[in-house]
Amino acid sequence: MQCRMSMEADVKGIGGMLPPLLFQKYFGGKQIVRMYKGKGCPVCHGTGYEGRLGIFEVMTMDENIRKAILEKKDSPEIQKIAIENGMTTMMEDGIRKVLEGLTTIEEVLRVTKE
Ligand SMILES: [Zn+2]
Repeated sequence: MQCRMSMEADVKGIGGMLPPLLFQKYFGGKQIVRMYKGKGCPVCHGTGYEGRLGIFEVMTMDENIRKAILEKKDSPEIQKIAIENGMTTMMEDGIRKVLEGLTTIEEVLRVTKE
């Protein structure tokens, strides 16, 4: 985004917003992280975002997941198995994009709540 500005964010303020496992993985042991924020300009119509960023959930089908689906397990259970097998959740993909400066944590929280 054109109006992107970097800022330092206090990790403590992020803690309460994320699932503990993800927080630990990406922010554990850190105190300050560099994040980016759009100030708002004509290009982004004052929103600070350039279009709608794609945040994706990546699930690799494997034997355990196939079995869980065949056994008609409910979706939280299937998701748990998928995460144990290395699935990237939307939230995690979003956090990676925040750290790459592609979006903000507020945007990730908004999108993952939908
Ligand atoms: Zn802008």
